[in-house]
Amino acid sequence: MKKTTKFLTMMLAMVMTACTLTACGGGAEKGNTITFGTNAEFPPFEYVTSNGVIGEYDGIDMAIAKQIAEGNGMTAAVENMEFDSLLVALQNGQIDAVIAGMTATDERRETVDFSTTYYTATQVMIVKEDSDIAAAADMADKKICVVQGYTGEICVQDMGYTYEAFKKGTEAVMELVNGKCDVVVIDSATAQKYVGDNAGLKIVEDPAAFESEEYAIAVQKGNTELLDKINQSIEKMLADGTINELAVKYTEEATAE
Ligand code: GLN
Repeated sequence: MKKTTKFLTMMLAMVMTACTLTACGGGAEKGNTITFGTNAEFPPFEYVTSNGVIGEYDGIDMAIAKQIAEGNGMTAAVENMEFDSLLVALQNGQIDAVIAGMTATDERRETVDFSTTYYTATQVMIVKEDSDIAAAADMADKKICVVQGYTGEICVQDMGYTYEAFKKGTEAVMELVNGKCDVVVIDSATAQKYVGDNAGLKIVEDPAAFESEEYAIAVQKGNTELLDKINQSIEKMLADGTINELAVKYTEEATAE
């Protein structure tokens, strides 16, 4: 009898330890998880795959998010939503941070705080290989496609051109492939991925027309505690070459498919 009690006590202790280690019962504590919002339609930064770095999510941003969380002794979780909904979800507290190849624009800075820049990109034009578009000004009489809410849409708007906006980059690129539009304006690394995936397309750059854009992670205004953690991790990953390696790895993988 005594032996049985001792055995049961030991079993109970083991189960309790296991529960502490895996946080069973209540799930992971909110305080120990960083929930990143993203729009997993933006390769090579974020996309859905069968075996990603965070569940089904993979890409440069997802690998960075995982390292930020783990470097701070925390766990990364991802909420996938429309790009347009990300900043509202952040303000509502539904997510802790946004990592979505998001350009830190002055307009967005009015509602959220941004981390240190972790990647510099620019808008480019994707056209058919035989297109006569050689500069942004050549888009004037062409049918232009953009993705809704992306900085590409804002650029084309500012240039005063009419355009059609799609929900997803893949949809805009399909319009181009099918000959229903002449040019897609989108971020450089993502454009490379689409050109690699679809025969007959090329990229046209016009650095004089499109300013460089800085990708950064957004947090709620005033959330310095999280912002400090994120910035420290980004600075470390920039200094030791991690971000560079990730960019090379995912760009090659994404276009080699
Ligand atoms: N860099 C662009 C922006 O911030 C596109 C980002 C994205 O599609 N994920 O609007």
